[in-house]
Amino acid sequence: MYQCPICRRAATNNSPPDFDGISVKCLECDDYEISGTAVDELMRLELAGRLDALQKAKRFALPGTKPSITTICL
Ligand SMILES: [Zn+2]
Repeated sequence: MYQCPICRRAATNNSPPDFDGISVKCLECDDYEISGTAVDELMRLELAGRLDALQKAKRFALPGTKPSITTICL
C-alpha cells in the first residue's frame, strides 16, 4: 500500500515514469505533486510542516492546476 507523503494515509502514486518527483492522489490532501528537489527535505519535516508546505503549494497553484510542492514551499 502506498502512503500519502503528507498525511500517511492510504493514497495513490500517480507519478508518470519520466516524472522527476511524486504525483499523489490522496482523499485527505487531494491531488498534488512534489518536485524531485523537494522530496527529501519534505520527508524530514514533521506532520505540521508537511501540511504547511501543502497549504503553501495550494495557495501558489493557479486555478485548475494541481498544487506542486517545491523547495519554495518548505
Ligand atoms: Zn494525504
